Amino acid sequence: MGAIAAGLVACTQNKEASATQQPKDLPNANPFPIVISTWPHIVDNEVALTAIKTGDLLDGIEQGINSVENNPEDQSVGLGGRPDRTGIVTLDACIMDKEHRAGSVCYLKNIKNPISVARLVMQDTPHVILAGDGALQFALSKGFKEEELLTAKSKEEYVEWLKTAHYKPKVNAELHDTIGMLAIDDKGDISGGCSTSGLGYKMQGRVGDSPIIGAGLFVDNEIGAATATGMGELVLTTLGSFLTVEFMRQGMSPMEACKAAVMRTVEKNKNTYKEMQVGYIALDKYGRYGAYSIQPGFQYTVTFENHNEVFDADSYLD
Ligand code: ASP
Repeated sequence: MGAIAAGLVACTQNKEASATQQPKDLPNANPFPIVISTWPHIVDNEVALTAIKTGDLLDGIEQGINSVENNPEDQSVGLGGRPDRTGIVTLDACIMDKEHRAGSVCYLKNIKNPISVARLVMQDTPHVILAGDGALQFALSKGFKEEELLTAKSKEEYVEWLKTAHYKPKVNAELHDTIGMLAIDDKGDISGGCSTSGLGYKMQGRVGDSPIIGAGLFVDNEIGAATATGMGELVLTTLGSFLTVEFMRQGMSPMEACKAAVMRTVEKNKNTYKEMQVGYIALDKYGRYGAYSIQPGFQYTVTFENHNEVFDADSYLD
């Protein structure tokens, strides 16, 4: 059977799975509900799983990501995020649901929970993306409170960085890192979200992949979902999360799809990829998951009933 025909079969099977329940005999399928996230986020995934079991899928995504945004020790997301090179913390986030709706905020200042604002953009406005002052005004109109997001620790590191002001994005989580979270509920419906303060010491005004639907996140409830972490510029120029979901639509497993998306990035950035990190995680309609990255060191967390595990993703480079 040709690749396209195989893809159509997979697509049909996926639709059947969505209407019924997860096939029990499929290798690597796991019991619903399932939450997966970029990087080690066991506690946050548990928050999400609990909310999904007791509430709904979007509450799970929002509350799981809020848990990371509210943690000042995480210097890549929400409160405590590293600032841009002018010393201001600006946040990007997006969310996408089983109805194929999406909401996003970018260049948002002084609001520690951009994923919650993104959810309200999705639910309460005719738009998908709100940026900068408009996003802030919208958040304030919804009752969010402004606060200083630059913590003493992130400020101290920034002041140290200013001594050389040498900017070189590093691989893995040293200076950047996104919480990307995907989940499937017990009905087999899928949603996802991601949130970040972006690259530490980025240029003022820089927006990365994380608030861009198809780049930092993509959900197709008939097929699966994917989300990205790493050098946003490379994710943006390949629309990597959309690409990963499209590869799953063609019949690839989540792991194969993440690998194929990383390989696209490698092929298109032959002169620079060795210095860069990009990683994807994906979840399909059957509850199978996978991940792949350019560099070693990318980890992801998988959580379902009585199971919580951090995995090392396979990578293109050793
Ligand atoms: N992808 C994020 C961005 O480029 C950062 C990261 O995940 O490391 O803004």
